Amino acid sequence: MKNLTQAYEFALPRIDGPTCIAQAWAKTPVSLSFMDKTRLKNKIQTLLKKRNAVIVAHYYVDGDIQDLALDTGGFVGDSLEMARFGRDHPAQILVVAGVRFMGETSKILSPHKRVLMPDLEASCSLDLGCPATEFNRFCDRHSDRTVVVYANTSAAVKARADWMVTSSCALAIVHQLHQQGEKILWAPDRHLGRYIHDQTGADMLIWDGTCIVHNEFKARELDLLCQQHPFAKVLVHPESPAEVIAMADVVGSTSAMIKAVIDGNAQEYIIATDQGILHRMRQLAPTKTLIEAPTAGQSATCKSCANCPWMAMNGLTHLSNCLQNLSGDINIEESLRIKASHCIERMLTFTQNNSKLLAQAQHGFIKNIGAA
Ligand code: SF4
Repeated sequence: MKNLTQAYEFALPRIDGPTCIAQAWAKTPVSLSFMDKTRLKNKIQTLLKKRNAVIVAHYYVDGDIQDLALDTGGFVGDSLEMARFGRDHPAQILVVAGVRFMGETSKILSPHKRVLMPDLEASCSLDLGCPATEFNRFCDRHSDRTVVVYANTSAAVKARADWMVTSSCALAIVHQLHQQGEKILWAPDRHLGRYIHDQTGADMLIWDGTCIVHNEFKARELDLLCQQHPFAKVLVHPESPAEVIAMADVVGSTSAMIKAVIDGNAQEYIIATDQGILHRMRQLAPTKTLIEAPTAGQSATCKSCANCPWMAMNGLTHLSNCLQNLSGDINIEESLRIKASHCIERMLTFTQNNSKLLAQAQHGFIKNIGAA
């Protein structure tokens, strides 16, 4: 592949997927009875008012938390939308239901607000797989390149970056940088990096990280599923392997996938992203049939599932506790926060001023969908 270099010197032996999952699963909140859920939701609603707080949730968290966020004037969205909402909302406390980098991004953009998270150990394999020390060394060795990092990184990694991107704007931003003749150092998701490279032709040096959820989608099994559902449209998040992306009718961010289900004129959709998104998709497109893309091979004895173990750590009990005790604070040292803010502000300014280019890039994501 011309212009594409993968940074294998920083492959990821330091985190072992199954070990991470086992540790995180152990912390997944216990199931609650209907009565307990109702009691906790009422308590959280009262606390939100008392504390002048608002819930900012990601599409991958538990459906009860998504509903509670919307019912109480909060927000459910992708990481770019979450960052914008948290920055612009007048509440003095943001309760970020998602994973740690999302809480950090909120704090970076809203330093005068308290940012609380139900569980501060809710992380992300992409963030864990890109430690700042190694990343800085990597950047030092390739100082001629413009550093573009995905949102799924620590504040310390963002502090080294020229640009932060999310999956909803990455293509447009890298396209523009490529048009300006810049060579890119990309981190940390290698599948998304490769996809952007293939779409833009940009010269990209790519860190070797993956999302433990999207990396599990299987092309062969997806092909078999498509044969069973010949009229289904296939929606794929670009953190998935290239051979899965190649089978997609739509490749895009979580918000783009939801829009594709709402607007599409097909009846059936195969969804290759975390299953948490199905909750919102079913609410917004109740007449459509949604099918989860396969994450395990046919002969597998252990069936994996598309459910992020860190997103699953967000439960109603923890959410209630963090509001009750004002615990789970995200704190970032001020000089680091200022450094990390530059790449995020740059992205926000770009997305605000380049709606046409973003729409063109989005159009590039969407293939053969037949919007209604
Ligand atoms: S789904 Fe993947 S990218 Fe998202 S938080 Fe979980 S591990 Fe990270």
